[in-house]
Amino acid sequence: MTTPTVKLSSGYDMPLVGFGLWKVNNDTCASQVYEAIKAGYRLFDGACDYGNEVECGQGVARAIKEGIVKREELFIVSKLWNSFHDGEQVEPICRKQLADWGVDYFDLYIVHFPISLKYVDPSVRYPPSWQNAEGKIELGKASIQETWTAMESVVDKKLARSIGVSNFNTQLLMDLLRYARIRPATLQIEHHPYLTQTRLVDYAQKEGLALTAYSSFGPLSFLELNLKDAHGTPPLFEHDVVKGIAEKHARTPAQVLLRWATQRNIAVIPKSNSPTRLAQNLQVNDFNLESAEIEAISALDKGLRFNDPVAYGLGIPIF
Ligand code: NAD
Repeated sequence: MTTPTVKLSSGYDMPLVGFGLWKVNNDTCASQVYEAIKAGYRLFDGACDYGNEVECGQGVARAIKEGIVKREELFIVSKLWNSFHDGEQVEPICRKQLADWGVDYFDLYIVHFPISLKYVDPSVRYPPSWQNAEGKIELGKASIQETWTAMESVVDKKLARSIGVSNFNTQLLMDLLRYARIRPATLQIEHHPYLTQTRLVDYAQKEGLALTAYSSFGPLSFLELNLKDAHGTPPLFEHDVVKGIAEKHARTPAQVLLRWATQRNIAVIPKSNSPTRLAQNLQVNDFNLESAEIEAISALDKGLRFNDPVAYGLGIPIF
């Protein structure tokens, strides 16, 4: 079974379903990536901030060594962390991340947040998280234009095939598109029935950016972080609308939530540790929801965002 792809403005094809690597534990990460490749996953969504890129690379290396997959069949995504937005820091950190993965190019390299934080030397702390070397939140001085110009040179040097952004709003995209020599190929955003961000999705798709949804299951991922809003919101898997549609199609609520996105050409990157769910999440493109069903799920929108630096107590009000 091959996963459908979406064509990026860079000319490359991105799988519509991938494996998200946030909160994948270091001790199991290499085997999870390896098992996911065996199960048919080709896109891996990593990041400096996830602190597991070395282990991700080990999983990839094992699968390649055993002949299960070739490097060019994989679509490896990584992200530029906020502490490395200064123009001169982008290429060195991208090279370090490539070395951690043990590959010589990323298929897609994304600006993780539109937030520049003060540089932290990797020898002091890596990944740096949100704090400076003294443990305090300190904004950096790089503009998005400075960072983006450095991202473009990462493509020129063939360290990344495509570049993109994450957690950007419409206004930031409008600005970026005015000066981008290489347009962002993708926009990765929080997207689930409680946060549909329709205007942003429509604008980005109209401008030719491919969309990737993160946290497709809404509050579920944030229960682990003990976020108050996640505990106070009805789980999407148990919502009558989602459950009813799942029963009708003889699918799981998880599959319906993923299909709700992929049927509108929005890629998904769910994370799971369980082999059954891994397989289930990949098998979401062989059935179609009716347009009334898509609308009924979209109508659950309540503008409820979970992945918000303010909710984490970081005091950076970007949303
Ligand atoms: P997710 O929505 O994928 O949910 C993960 C949770 O759902 C886990 O608890 C998992 O056990 C459970 N789950 C997975 N499949 C299931 C199934 N079939 N049935 C029942 N439960 C299932 O959450 P996420 O990890 O927040 O998002 C996915 C990925 O998106 C991340 O791993 C990361 O790669 C990316 N992400 C990016 C950003 C960003 O700022 N760009 C932010 C958050 C996440």
